[in-house]
Amino acid sequence: MKQKIRKWTLRLTVTGLFIAGLLLIIILNPILTYAKKTTHNTFTIYHNTKLDPLLTSQLDDAIDLLKTSEFYNDKFKMDICLNDGSKYTRLIEIIGGRQFARGFYDKVVLFGNANFKENYVELEGYKWNLTQLLAHEMTHCLQFAKFGFWKSKPIANIDNWKWEGYAEYIARQNTNKNDLIKNLDRINQSDKNSWEITFDDSTIAPREYFYYWTMVQYCMDIKKMNYKQLLADTTKEQNIKQEMEKWCKEKKRTHNMGLPKLGHEY
Ligand SMILES: [Zn+2]
Repeated sequence: MKQKIRKWTLRLTVTGLFIAGLLLIIILNPILTYAKKTTHNTFTIYHNTKLDPLLTSQLDDAIDLLKTSEFYNDKFKMDICLNDGSKYTRLIEIIGGRQFARGFYDKVVLFGNANFKENYVELEGYKWNLTQLLAHEMTHCLQFAKFGFWKSKPIANIDNWKWEGYAEYIARQNTNKNDLIKNLDRINQSDKNSWEITFDDSTIAPREYFYYWTMVQYCMDIKKMNYKQLLADTTKEQNIKQEMEKWCKEKKRTHNMGLPKLGHEY
C-alpha cells in the first residue's frame, strides 16, 4: 500500500511539474497563443486582429513618461499583449486575477477593452487612461529588470505603496496631476466610500493607488529621495502619511499668509 501511495505521489508530482513547465513556456512565448506580431521600436506587439496604428503613438507617449524613471534603459525590450481574442490574456487572468492590465517580467498584458481612439481601457464600466496604464505596467517591468525576480514583488516583501505608488508616480505626470497639494485635496474632497477617484476626462485611478502615488510623490519630490533610497527607508507607512499631511497643512498655511488681504481688489 505504502509503495502504491509513493508511486502515485511521484506520478502526480511529475505531472504537476510538467503542466507548470508547459504553462511557463506559453507565458514566456506569447507567439504560441497569438496569430500576429508587430514590432515597433523596442516593442513587440502580440495581437489577433488588425493593429490600430494609434497604439504605436500611445506606446511612444508611455515611453516618454518612462524616461523620467532612474531605471530607464532605451535598450530594454518589452512585449505588449493585447486583449483581442487570444487565450493568452485569459490564462494570465486565471493565474493572476482580473484587472485592467498586468506588467510582469518584460510583458505588459491588457485585459480590459481598449479604445485606442479615446485612449482608454474599459473594465466593468470603469475607464483607465491607456497611455498611463501602459506606462504604469511598463514601470513594473523596469522594476523587475532592475531588481530581478527574487527582489521584485510578489516574491520580495516590498510595501505595496512603494511598488504601486512608484508605477503611478511615473505614469501620472501630465500637468494637471503633478501638484501634490492638489492631489491631496482631490483625495480629501472625493467620496470616501467609493473605491476609485475620477478625473476630469472620466478615467479613474483606484483610491488606494492614488494615495500610494501621493506618498511616493512626497518622498521623491519633497524629501528628494531616489527610488532606491525610498525602498531602503524604514519609516512606517502611517508615519509617512502623517508627515505628509502635516507638510501639506503647513504649506497651505504659509501660502495663505502670503496672499494679499481680501478687500483690496477695488
Ligand atoms: Zn501596478
